[in-house]
Amino acid sequence: MPGFFIKDVDMVTIRTVGIVGAGRMGSGIAYACAQSGLDVVLCDTSEDALAEAITVIAETLDRSVRKGLLHAADKAAALARISTGTDLPVVADADLVIEAVTENEQVKRGIFRALAQHLKAESLIVTNTSSMSVTHLAASTDRPSKFMGMHFMNPVPAMPLVELIRGIATDEETFAAISDLTTRIGKTAAVAEDFPAFIVHRVLLPMINEAVYTLYEGVGSVKDIDTALKLGANHPMGPLELADFIGLDTCLGIMQVLYEGLADSKYRPCPLLVKYVEAGWIGRKVGRGFYDYSHNPPIPSR
Ligand code: NAD
Repeated sequence: MPGFFIKDVDMVTIRTVGIVGAGRMGSGIAYACAQSGLDVVLCDTSEDALAEAITVIAETLDRSVRKGLLHAADKAAALARISTGTDLPVVADADLVIEAVTENEQVKRGIFRALAQHLKAESLIVTNTSSMSVTHLAASTDRPSKFMGMHFMNPVPAMPLVELIRGIATDEETFAAISDLTTRIGKTAAVAEDFPAFIVHRVLLPMINEAVYTLYEGVGSVKDIDTALKLGANHPMGPLELADFIGLDTCLGIMQVLYEGLADSKYRPCPLLVKYVEAGWIGRKVGRGFYDYSHNPPIPSR
């Protein structure tokens, strides 16, 4: 297994980063890159998403200024380093393109095919996919050796981890350049092999799924399960509270990726998780999941 070892290789210098997809993840990644001194070109098909991304980035920079982590002038400089556009060619001059669009294989493949017509031959491409095979996505690019996974955590400004995933063809120059970039933007890397759900989700989601089974089988109530893990395992959030934060639809999607990708019954999604998703009770984003957020503090939904 290759691990984190980096051979002595000529490293590509990354100065300009193109980010395709300006949603939750793309905007966070743009923030991390711009405040670390990189030039950023943010591309999204939606004008609204781009405007919202700039607003969110400005607010995040403001918070850093208020906390004394950043000078006001640095905020302005970081914002000035970000440009936006709705057409893919805006990222043509980027040394690296970070793909962070909707988790849909056809959409991602379409972007990789289109990038081939615009990007410099030596530019690198990474995907922020949470669930797809990096090797499989690499095959739809014109440069599988210069392609890999760079899996940021949500919310990007607050989460220090990035999982780095080589595809089968990723070369050492690419891996070295992306490892270096990860450090430059203030993040810490964990290297994962290209297997379903990588490391964080592979460990975290079965734990959440087991908490839902614990509820389903009547072993404990919503409150007791969360209290048990917070006070008994020192987790900052209980697993059901965390499931609501992540989104129960996302949790179910990841369990399905593990179940199908690893073909092991231990990853079977809990029927109660399926039922909550069927009900549309998918967590905080809709105001109801395992907890009902119309109450302050939230109370268990049932
Ligand atoms: P999101 O829905 O918030 O944003 C996706 C953005 O992609 C939208 O703004 C949409 O307009 C844009 N988009 C769609 N098609 C496009 C196209 N053809 N060209 C340009 N832009 C396009 O999604 P997100 O939560 O930011 O997730 C993005 C990626 O990051 C997904 O692959 C997801 O699996 C991954 N990811 C998400 C999380 C998370 O917790 N949200 C964590 C890690 C990784």
